[in-house]
Amino acid sequence: MKINYDYTVIGAGLAGMTAARLLADQGKRVLVIEKLQHIGGSIYDHKDESGVLVHKYGPHIFHTNHKEVFDFLSRFTEWNGYSHKVVAKLEKGEIPVPFNLTALEEVYGKEKAARITAKLKDEFGTDTVSVMKLRESSDSELSELGEYVYQNIFLYYTMKQWGKKPSEIDPKTTERVPVRLSRDDRYFTDVYQGLPTAGYTEMARRMLDSELITVKTGCENAIALKDGKIYICGEETSSKVVYTGELDRLMGYRFGKLPYRTLDFVFETHNVDSYQSAATVNYTVSEDFTRISEFKKMTLQKVDGVTTVMKEYPRQYEGKEGEIPYYPVANPESAALYAKYRKEAEKYGLILLGRLAEYKYYNMDAVVKRAMELLK
Ligand code: UDP
Repeated sequence: MKINYDYTVIGAGLAGMTAARLLADQGKRVLVIEKLQHIGGSIYDHKDESGVLVHKYGPHIFHTNHKEVFDFLSRFTEWNGYSHKVVAKLEKGEIPVPFNLTALEEVYGKEKAARITAKLKDEFGTDTVSVMKLRESSDSELSELGEYVYQNIFLYYTMKQWGKKPSEIDPKTTERVPVRLSRDDRYFTDVYQGLPTAGYTEMARRMLDSELITVKTGCENAIALKDGKIYICGEETSSKVVYTGELDRLMGYRFGKLPYRTLDFVFETHNVDSYQSAATVNYTVSEDFTRISEFKKMTLQKVDGVTTVMKEYPRQYEGKEGEIPYYPVANPESAALYAKYRKEAEKYGLILLGRLAEYKYYNMDAVVKRAMELLK
């Protein structure tokens, strides 16, 4: 017998899974369709051949200040309490990222650092300042510091990540990693931080574990739009549809391609307990990859004598078979193009959610929060 679903959700990533669960909580029957063979989307993790739990699509560290988001996900997982630490590998050695007052002392020595710290606090307070703003300071010592951070932390890394200089990309992107006017050496300062103790995939499994949710994986091109009607697996649907994939692809690229950055990942397993000094080491002045992440240091998994690390090589997304669009490229042209697609999607009544469908550089918690707002 054919089931009539109240909602169809396209994509079983964090956006789609959150939507499905929130709808099931409201008593709706939900069909979730995923093109990959597994659920979880980019948060998917699994054990590799040496038994190390790895994040297949790059390191994901959960952090949020939104209690409602933390409480919602905590229904499906416990947390390991990990706070992310990142260092940048410079020629002289490693310094904390975000650049903080400890790094300042390492670079300039105690005396000069103390003088600059006082000026920083005077001009910018005690929280953070963006590197771009620091560079523009009228005080020559502060602008010199801004230039140092720009040259050593941001310029080359951003060139690799986006193929552009920091001044040529959306300022919000570099503001994600500000200069910190304290000694706090955590990558994020949010109240709630950590990774799921049993992994993201297990959290995903529990999110979708409801009598009201049906999941189908391995279904490519499950949705089609034609003459104002939505077709799911070839049949016109009467359900409401939450779409979490790329809008340009769904609409046959009719207005042109939305730009994205993708990543090539290289995994390496080493027969040592520990490979590097921090969970993530950013290569801000050398190498073709942006960063190396060592999973054991963030999952806190205990495995002796072996560790797996991942290198990330960013490049332009072409839309070829198997490529994954990880990062929308925010600029006025892409925003205008996206607006065209969005207008078209709205004619069909599609509910657009997530990094791809909304074309927004969302963090994990922001996706969950957005789903909560949209499906209230
Ligand atoms: N960034 C940088 N150097 C760093 C870290 C970050 O230039 O050591 C810039 C870069 O442009 C990057 C952005 O800041 O894309 C945001 O960094 P984040 O770590 O938030 O990126 P994600 O983890 O989302 O890839």
